[in-house]
Amino acid sequence: MPKSSVDQLAINGGEPLFFEPLHAGQINSPQSNELETAFRGIFSRRFYANHGPLERELDSRLATYLGVRHAISITNGTLALMILLRALGLTGKVLVPSFTFPGTVQALSWAGLEPEFCDVDASTHNLSTATVSDRLGSGATAVLGVHLWGRACDVKGLAALAEEHGLILLYDAAHAFGCTAGGRLVGGFGVAEMFSFHATKVLNAAEGGCITTNDDELAARVRTMRTFHESETRADVAFRMNGKLSEAQAAVALCSLDEVEANINANKLRYELYKKRLAPFSGIEFIDHAYGEKSNYQYVLVQVEKEAAGISRDRLMQILRAENVFARKYFSPGVHRALPYREQYPEVLNRLPVTDELSDSLMQLPTGQAVSQDDVERVSELIGFILNHV
Ligand SMILES: *Cc1c(COP(=O)(O)O)cnc(C)c1O
Repeated sequence: MPKSSVDQLAINGGEPLFFEPLHAGQINSPQSNELETAFRGIFSRRFYANHGPLERELDSRLATYLGVRHAISITNGTLALMILLRALGLTGKVLVPSFTFPGTVQALSWAGLEPEFCDVDASTHNLSTATVSDRLGSGATAVLGVHLWGRACDVKGLAALAEEHGLILLYDAAHAFGCTAGGRLVGGFGVAEMFSFHATKVLNAAEGGCITTNDDELAARVRTMRTFHESETRADVAFRMNGKLSEAQAAVALCSLDEVEANINANKLRYELYKKRLAPFSGIEFIDHAYGEKSNYQYVLVQVEKEAAGISRDRLMQILRAENVFARKYFSPGVHRALPYREQYPEVLNRLPVTDELSDSLMQLPTGQAVSQDDVERVSELIGFILNHV
């Protein structure tokens, strides 16, 4: 039932608007009958791991879909990034945003590298040539950009900057499967890009990830480094790892790939409905994906501007949570405020104002297959009610 008075809010003892929690997990599950067929194939072949036919099919279909020479699947996105960083032979410091998933920065640490935290641009939420230029004096050897919410970084500007200063440029594209920059699909920018196929990403392998690149030599190193299996020895490398994708993961990924366009279209409908319904509310700034590029619409976010909205992001989230609407702080805090970085680099705590501002004001709204158009209507109406009455 929609609320008609403040006492009806669940936080004041009323009935929650939703019976079951509505999560911001944005999960798109592949069809169960397709999955069953794929798993029967694995059982009958008795080929579970070590670069089976499904993994090979996945790598080839991913490369075709993304329009790159090589897609190399790896157990998950974090491990894929660690292997890539080692395969590139990077040393020293890497310019990286703090406003990202902790895995981006943790991968640097695991690979023996040091993060040099950059702030992000207030309108794109990504690294920009300006925020990277600010930290060029640090002696960093590489730039790791993150295409946050699927909105690609300024790939042209960063490529020119990297070229001018002799920096290796690579991307965490975990959010950006199916998204474009300048009309070209993400996957072929920088020396290489990393994708995640975690269950919450638009392409769902349960757990999974890949590296994409157009560099044959780099691809050979990554292919060898992700496995101890002899069939994949294509380059002379010292460091190796078990980063293989199992056939089970590849099966889920292939089924999900069959449905990715349909899921993107359904995401888009939910996103557009939220955008339309939330537009009248002042202080709720909708994070727009409509700027002339293709998006996967996997991330529906709003920025809660406390003064204009008359309520803080955290208070709004608390009231929503009581109604079983599990909106999420994303990302909060910035990685530079989490362990080990806040202790390792205390001097950074005061120099990322945009990151801090975004961490304190952004809120991710529930979407994905489990969220119907009607749910979107009800959540939007609830937000409007709270803004007007609390
Ligand atoms: C999900 C994610 C990762 C990590 O990927 P996993 O497959 O979960 O290891 C890294 N960076 C970003 C931006 C992510 O969203």
